[in-house]
Amino acid sequence: MRNGRLLTSMAADWVARAWAGPSAIPSSVRLEWQLVIVRWAGIISIGPGLLLVPLTPTQLWAAYAVIGLDIVFNTAVQLGISRYPGLLTNVLLVMLGDSLITVMIISAAGYRDSPLSYAFFLVAVSAALRYGYRSLLVVGFFVTCDWINKASAPTALDAPFVIRSVFLCLTAIVTSYIYGQVHKAQTALLRQEINEAAAINEALEHQAQHDLLTLLPNRALLQISLEQAIQTYDTSGLTQALLLMDLDRFKDVNDTFGHRFGDLLLQQIGPRARDVLGTSALLARLGGDEFAVLLDGGNSQTAAELGAELVTALEKPFSIEGHVISVGVSIGIALLPEHGRAPDTLLQHADVAMYNAKRRRLGWVLYAPEQDNNTPERITLANELRDAIGQNELTVYLQPQVSLNTRSLEGVEALVRWQHPKRGLVFPDQFISVAESTGLIRGLTHWVLNAALREIHNLAGIGIVVPVSVNFSMRDLHDADLPHTVESLLARWSVHPAQLTVEITESSLMDDPPRALQTIKRLSSMGVRISIDDFGTGYSSLSYLKQLPVDELKIDRSFVQHLANDKKDAAIVRSTIGLAHDLGLQVVAEGVEDMGTWDRLRALKCDTAQGYLISRPMPAQQLPEWLREQWGANKTLAAAA
Ligand code: C2E
Ligand code: CA
Ligand code: CA
Repeated sequence: MRNGRLLTSMAADWVARAWAGPSAIPSSVRLEWQLVIVRWAGIISIGPGLLLVPLTPTQLWAAYAVIGLDIVFNTAVQLGISRYPGLLTNVLLVMLGDSLITVMIISAAGYRDSPLSYAFFLVAVSAALRYGYRSLLVVGFFVTCDWINKASAPTALDAPFVIRSVFLCLTAIVTSYIYGQVHKAQTALLRQEINEAAAINEALEHQAQHDLLTLLPNRALLQISLEQAIQTYDTSGLTQALLLMDLDRFKDVNDTFGHRFGDLLLQQIGPRARDVLGTSALLARLGGDEFAVLLDGGNSQTAAELGAELVTALEKPFSIEGHVISVGVSIGIALLPEHGRAPDTLLQHADVAMYNAKRRRLGWVLYAPEQDNNTPERITLANELRDAIGQNELTVYLQPQVSLNTRSLEGVEALVRWQHPKRGLVFPDQFISVAESTGLIRGLTHWVLNAALREIHNLAGIGIVVPVSVNFSMRDLHDADLPHTVESLLARWSVHPAQLTVEITESSLMDDPPRALQTIKRLSSMGVRISIDDFGTGYSSLSYLKQLPVDELKIDRSFVQHLANDKKDAAIVRSTIGLAHDLGLQVVAEGVEDMGTWDRLRALKCDTAQGYLISRPMPAQQLPEWLREQWGANKTLAAAA
């Protein structure tokens, strides 16, 4: 009993596996495989079945011969399917083979009286499954054979003959119809699946090209639009204007009210800008507080008008959760084709113009090549500088500052030099701005500060106690960790905070006054001195001098150098010294190159002088030697004497 069940289940398993066929065959020929199985079943059952049909020995042999032929045929088809499935995608030949063999075996077995004639139905069904209504050709072939056979027999038209012909046709028609319906349903399902997949793809693509927060197009989509715009320009000459917008004071909003609040503000930028743009232009968010507008047909005039309107619109306060918030925007404009014919160039040039608008507080600025300093040469330099900072190719030189009154050494300014393996000694004028525009400046400042304090520490070790001034850049003042960094480096080299002066240029104060102010206040509260460098060249308002904890002004060398012959420069220097002293600040004059200037400065009661007259910047090891020379026997500085 149990054995029986086991055998049945094994047999069922075997049949199921045989029916499914080898896993490697393509689904398009799976039906053919199943027909091979059906054919084998037919051969296996008809073989012994023929013995039950009353046939003459000749008929029997003929019938077995045809079955032998069918075995060869089916084997060939089976091998064809498993070895060369590509050959069988057109199954017309197989179908014809089936028909011929069926007709042959039925003829051999006594034709219309043979029970085998029901095999017609099987072949008709399988043809209908494969060829739909075209299977009626096969059925027509069978019916014709039937008719010929009928004509050869001298009997009247009888009912079984008619019934068989009609049923045969009906079988093919009904099977074809059902098969057609199933096929249609399958195709509809497939199409629906394809449509759904397309919809999902479209949604994904939309998501990939839009910003989640503001739902505006993102950088990727802007890039694509720029590429298309460039193509359109090439074919039709339609110009474009790219406006790059960066919010002012956004960081303050984020810092003061939190990121969620900042997000709410960013969400209001799109609609506000849209009011100005109408529906015509593409508005994208590139990330952070950076947005871009691509204006079809834009030229310098329309772009400038639009820039001005956007500045005005975005200057108006925003109302967020009961707070009234004012941010501004700085806009850089680049035009296709004047300012570039590639997306990256246009973006980069718009960025240069935007940076200019921000620095000079102009609202919007149209790109001009003079503003740009990111040449390939500078990019190479930036890459080399990155390595230089790590590989100790930098050194600091010290330039003495002496008292105009007593001629004693008041301090030294640390000035960085780059000992480039190929270019030789490179001066900071050539790489500081590169460092500033590439974000390398923080690492550089950290390096210089550490090196300068180490030199001061070493000099103190041999009895020369001297304060040091280090130049900080605008970007440094944006670094919230800076005061902490300064504190730990002072501690590392046991230098008293009052021994360190931080030189900041006026323009760096103006870029982001509140943030710079905060950093400077923290440094000052640590006891570090603050000096305003290049005083007179920037745009600073005197009110900042009042707000800032400043200790010293450095008059820019452009005023000092011509002090002796230029009356206007003399007036500026005189009034700057007066102003500084009234505010209780020390004054350093830089660029003192001759005794005439020295004497003038002394007469104007300037406190300290720095310049080639006293000494050029020098490696720290040379300072003791220089001091010995200067002091000589009478301990006064020879150069200034
Ligand atoms: P600065 O801060 O105004 O530095 C003074 C510059 O004037 C130095 O040029 C110095 O060599 C030069 N100089 C000194 N005395 C005279 C003189 O009598 N006549 C003339 N014609 N020039 C004189 P240097 O070292 O080439 O530095 C140029 C600028 O690079 C500096 O101007 C400063 O803004 C920047 N810099 C230098 N080192 C650093 C640094 O470590 N960090 C940062 N952020 N900037 C630095
Ligand atoms: Ca300086
Ligand atoms: Ca200076």
